[in-house]
Amino acid sequence: MKMFIQIIIDPENGRPATTKNVAEFKRESLSTDTLGLTLLESKVILKNIQSVVTQQQVDHYIHEYQPCPRCHQHQTIKGHHTIVYRTLFGKLSLKSPGLTICSCQNSDQKSISPLSKALPERMSPEFQFLQSKWASLVSYGMALNIIEDVLPVKSNIATVFNNTQKVAKRLDAEIGDEKTSYIDGCQAQWDTLPYPDSPLSVGIDGGYIHSRDGDNRKAGWFEAIVGKSLQDEKPSKRFGFVCQYDDKPKSRLNTMLQRQGLQMNQDITFLSDGGETRYEIFKNGLVLNQNTCWIGFM
Ligand SMILES: [Zn+2]
Repeated sequence: MKMFIQIIIDPENGRPATTKNVAEFKRESLSTDTLGLTLLESKVILKNIQSVVTQQQVDHYIHEYQPCPRCHQHQTIKGHHTIVYRTLFGKLSLKSPGLTICSCQNSDQKSISPLSKALPERMSPEFQFLQSKWASLVSYGMALNIIEDVLPVKSNIATVFNNTQKVAKRLDAEIGDEKTSYIDGCQAQWDTLPYPDSPLSVGIDGGYIHSRDGDNRKAGWFEAIVGKSLQDEKPSKRFGFVCQYDDKPKSRLNTMLQRQGLQMNQDITFLSDGGETRYEIFKNGLVLNQNTCWIGFM
């Protein structure tokens, strides 16, 4: 038995629908090996669907962009170049036209590339997210293997590293400057706040890790601090940093707690093993509100 997967594209403008072939596969006898789709088939199908869908979107976008926005004259295509755009469902090579800007616009610019303008980044946000997420949990090589095992993508460790660093720097830039105290407002303002959610509990711990400097695997030690914030009926959040390098550890923790919905009238309890460095870093700044409680276990 032969099976075909097709996409029907309805332009919804009175013109007839068109059909594009995505994949075809054969099945003979039924067994555990032949029932349903194989991983390889699923990758091919996903890749082909992505290719057809994106080509339709690009064609439609260029078609819409071609008339001059002022006089509606057709702007001519002066040439093409290729844009490589990476998605979770395959690397796309998109043909990007350069349009001659209509003379009625009196623009100093002679031409425009609408597709380059629409896609300033060359990697889909979901791909960046998944790659960075896995690379933050396991080694860059393992992250690459996991993604390549299940999705129709090919990459290399250097790319995973560079993209993860890029995302990490962007996230770091969202964290506010380090402050002495994070107590915001006064009692009168706190009294007007809505009744807070259940108390927050934050566990903090740390450990010493061997440093590496190039090929030297004995470049001393560094201390990493990790923590987890728990609250009833809300997902937990985690944080981590290296004491010697992080110049805004308190702000990092505060940002995480704010994202978890911390209010100034909310109870918050810190649990620690009482490690000296941990206290040293936080003792002045971790009093986040008047309901902060510190419990150190020696
Ligand atoms: Zn014009």
